[in-house]
Amino acid sequence: MRAVTVTPGVPDSLRMVDDWPEPAPEEGAILVEALAVGICGTDLEIAAGEYGEAPPGQERLVLGHESLGRVLEDPTGTLQPGDLVAGVVRRPDPVPCPNCAVDEWDMCRNGQYTEHGIKGLPGFARDRWRIQPKFAVGLDPALAPVGMLLEPTSVVAKAWDHIERIGARAEWKPQTALVTGAGPIGLLAALLATQRGLAVHVLDRNTTGPKPELVRALGATYHTVPVAELDFEPDVVVECTGAPPVLLDAMCKAGPIGIVCLTGVSSGGRSMDFDAGALNRDLVLENNVVFGSVNANRRHWDLAAQALARADQSWLNSLVTRRVPVSAYAEAYTHTGGDIKTVLDFTA
Ligand SMILES: [Zn+2]
Repeated sequence: MRAVTVTPGVPDSLRMVDDWPEPAPEEGAILVEALAVGICGTDLEIAAGEYGEAPPGQERLVLGHESLGRVLEDPTGTLQPGDLVAGVVRRPDPVPCPNCAVDEWDMCRNGQYTEHGIKGLPGFARDRWRIQPKFAVGLDPALAPVGMLLEPTSVVAKAWDHIERIGARAEWKPQTALVTGAGPIGLLAALLATQRGLAVHVLDRNTTGPKPELVRALGATYHTVPVAELDFEPDVVVECTGAPPVLLDAMCKAGPIGIVCLTGVSSGGRSMDFDAGALNRDLVLENNVVFGSVNANRRHWDLAAQALARADQSWLNSLVTRRVPVSAYAEAYTHTGGDIKTVLDFTA
């Protein structure tokens, strides 16, 4: 069968392998036929040789962590043949740490977790894959065109879960949310904010392309000015750019008892002049919280599946701006301006 693979650490090693072995039964009882995988910045970093780790003893890593497939067989009866399914990306570490021991692998403390298509486990960019019931998330049949958005949605479902857990420290009635960055994560974070009834503002530097209209279609407000120039103080900020000037401004902009959730990964190595004392004063005197959030556990995947099922399907569909047939896989792993989500289509 076909599999899209790389040799981790080796640039330009992206290859389609046509005779990749069928998934081993040990991978899980549920056999799945791939429909699509979504592609994100992590995939591009792995393809560029900057990131990623093959399974132990193997040279090549199958890519793909944003999965969507159709169940071929499930002898456990958890799912039925024909059901839509996505695979959870992360597996708990083998020690396990206190968090992985209770299936909160998204909060792993020793870094020994594994991840499909990223770190030590084969990904989902292959014609067939297997998964254990515990890590198989069933999807509403209406989500067939967009179900590969479940993985990025799980990331923002976790972010909002933690925002609300932090909010519960006090009487908290948030009204306004600011999302910085209108990529897939930012737009999905904004979707979940609108589902919570908040007044939602999305900030991005793009003035053209599909982003302004996608934000307006959510009933949210689109901004292209610097964060510091916004004329309101958000109760919640979900920072999705990882850009130092944006995230520092976002921390300063949050209103009293505000919560700032950082989801963007910065590359680091860049220093800038910044008044840390002023930020500290703001955070202390306003009881503000700034925290980081990554990955998602099973509970968040289920919350994400509910959020996608509630969303406008045509809006979700318009997040997928490029569908590349698997025969032209290399095109899917090249940067293009203006794309929101690129999807590798296994049915074409
Ligand atoms: Zn762990």
